Amino acid sequence: MNVILSGIDFSAKLRESIKKRVSFIKKTHALIPGLAVVLLGEDPASQIYVRNKAKQTVEVGMKSVEHKLPSDTNEKDLLALIKALNQDDSIHGILVQLPLPPHINEALVINAITVDKDVDGFHLINTGLLSTGSKKAVIPCTPLGSMMMLKDRLGSLSGLKAVVVGRSNIVGKPMAALLLNESCTVTIAHSKTKNLAQECRQADILVAAVGKPEMIKGEWVKPGAVVIDVGINRVEKEEGETKLVGDVEFSSVSKVARAITPVPGGVGPMTIACLLENTLQQTCRIHQITLPDDFSDQS
Ligand code: NAP
Repeated sequence: MNVILSGIDFSAKLRESIKKRVSFIKKTHALIPGLAVVLLGEDPASQIYVRNKAKQTVEVGMKSVEHKLPSDTNEKDLLALIKALNQDDSIHGILVQLPLPPHINEALVINAITVDKDVDGFHLINTGLLSTGSKKAVIPCTPLGSMMMLKDRLGSLSGLKAVVVGRSNIVGKPMAALLLNESCTVTIAHSKTKNLAQECRQADILVAAVGKPEMIKGEWVKPGAVVIDVGINRVEKEEGETKLVGDVEFSSVSKVARAITPVPGGVGPMTIACLLENTLQQTCRIHQITLPDDFSDQS
C-alpha cells in the first residue's frame, strides 16, 4: 500500500518536542531562545510566511522578533541591523527572508550573519561544514525536514540510489550533501541533464526541487521508490481560482511510489518546524547546554 508522508502530522510532533525542550531550558537555565526575522518590502507571500514563522515561534515558547523594513532600505543599514542582532544576547537565530531586492548583495548579507546564529544554514561556513560531513553544520531547513521524513520512513539510507532534481544552493545541493552523508549513491539532475526520466527511474529516493508544476510523471518513477516533492507551484484551477501543486504529478506518481509527500501538506510545514529546531539547537550550542534525550517527564 502506498503511504502519504504527512508533513502536517510530522511537523506537529516536532514542534511539540521543541516546545518541551524550550520549557526545559527555561526552567534549568532561565533562558528563552530568540529568533529574529528580517523582511524587506511588501511581498504578500513573504509577509504571510514571516507571519506564520512568528506565530509558530511564539507557540513553542520562543521569543520572536520581526524587523519589517521598506524595500528601498540600503545595504549599509541592513548590514548594521545584522550586526546589532549578532551582538544581541537575547537572539540566537537570525533569518533574512529571501529573495532580497536587486540593489542588495544577498551573499554579503547572508555571510554577515554570525555563523552560530545562521539558522537558515546558508552561510558559507555552514555550507562548507555540511559538505565535509561535519556534525557542526547548521542544515538548511527544507532539506533537513525532507531528510527527517526520509529517515523516519526508511531508517538507514545506506547504499540506496538517490536522485535530486534541482541544484539550488538552498534546496538541491544541501539535499544531495545530506543524502551523500547518509551513504546514498547520489545523482544531481538539473535543466541540462540528458534523459531526465531515465535518471529519475533509477532512484530508490527521488527528491524533486525544480519549481515546474507536476513535471515528474508516474512513468519516471521506479516502483517502490520514496518520493519527496519539495516544489510549491501556484497554478490556475478554474475561473481565476488557483491551487498549489508540487513538481511531481501526484495522481500518477502516488500509484507507483512506496511513499510520497503531498503538496500542500508535505515538505512545506516541515520547513518552519526545522527553523525552530535549528534555533533551539543553536541556543544550546551558544550556551553550551546539553539536553537530556527524553523529555517525557520534563514538560
Ligand atoms: P531554483 O533556485 O529555481 O532551482 C530550480 C532548479 O531546478 C535548478 O537547479 C534548475 O536547473 C532545475 N530545473 C529547472 N527546470 C528544470 C527542468 N526542466 N528539468 C530539470 N531541472 C530543472 O528553485 P529552488 O529555490 O531550489 O526551489 C525549487 C522548488 O521548491 C520551488 O517550487 C520552490 O517554491 C520550492 N521550495 C519549497 C520549499 C518548502 O518549504 N517546501 C522551500 C524552498 C523551495 P539549473 O540549475 O540548470 O537552472
